[in-house]
Amino acid sequence: MFKIFKNAAKSFARKITDIKLTESEFDDVFFELEVELISQNYTPEIIDVLREELRLELVNKSTKHPEKEIKKAITNVFNKTVTVKELSKEIQNSHKPVKILFIGFNGVGKTTTIAKIAYLLKKQKMTSVISASDTFRSASVEQLQFHADKVGVKVINQKYGADPVAVAFDSVKHAESKNIDTVLIDTAGRSYDNINLMNELTKMKRVIKPDITILVLDSLTGSDLINQISKFGDLGITGLVLTKTDSDVGGGAVLSAPYALKTPIYYLGTGQNYEDLKIPKIEELLKEIF
Ligand code: GDP
Repeated sequence: MFKIFKNAAKSFARKITDIKLTESEFDDVFFELEVELISQNYTPEIIDVLREELRLELVNKSTKHPEKEIKKAITNVFNKTVTVKELSKEIQNSHKPVKILFIGFNGVGKTTTIAKIAYLLKKQKMTSVISASDTFRSASVEQLQFHADKVGVKVINQKYGADPVAVAFDSVKHAESKNIDTVLIDTAGRSYDNINLMNELTKMKRVIKPDITILVLDSLTGSDLINQISKFGDLGITGLVLTKTDSDVGGGAVLSAPYALKTPIYYLGTGQNYEDLKIPKIEELLKEIF
């Protein structure tokens, strides 16, 4: 991830040598970077932040060690965009059962993420039950059941086409009666139409009142990222999981999504195994660049 900044740092450093970088020289070098950032799905807003931080550190300044200034600028960008929230702590501090709603498009890795979180909670001695509230896609319940069996967590489901909110309601009742710590609620990632999906999710929020709402995004998502952010942005997202960061991603989604939604990241998905979930650490992300 973030190879793009490694290359950018080199380009700037080459340009600077021992002379001052003027506004127009800066604009030239940044333009090259901007084209790359756009192709890696960095949103215009995050590109603006990066431009201003770099400009502040580099323009009209004599610098012998440009790497230092570039690092400072990029560190500032990371600090301004990526905040991290610890899900387990949030669960521990909440009234039980803690209701966690998972939303996101089909294929982003929602089901796998739910299984990974159930697995993690189990390791931390917290119990959970999964609500199979994607009743729109018949295969999704089987898929969820497959993962849940592997991690040893119960799934509450009803027949295909059932009311997703009713399934979640049953799951909460089940958790209450068995003193289960968390209810992990899967939802549809697509419906016959978008309005329907949004109505369904809004109803879910109104009736079930989740304590935590997690938007799962695929870090490999291309230009559809902005679309997904704007669709789900109004649903009171409390945090994000960005999946597939083990692939060769440019980091566009990892920086742009939390910035656009003003939302912290809970986890990065780092592979297809159940333990492949990582709390992001800014210092570690920066180590990939410098
Ligand atoms: P859903 O439709 O959103 O529920 O998506 P799934 O959970 O079924 O995941 C879609 C595909 O992405 C599956 O092949 C998963 O194994 C894969 N996947 C999910 N998370 C990750 C991840 O962090 N890294 C990698 N490499 N693959 C992932």
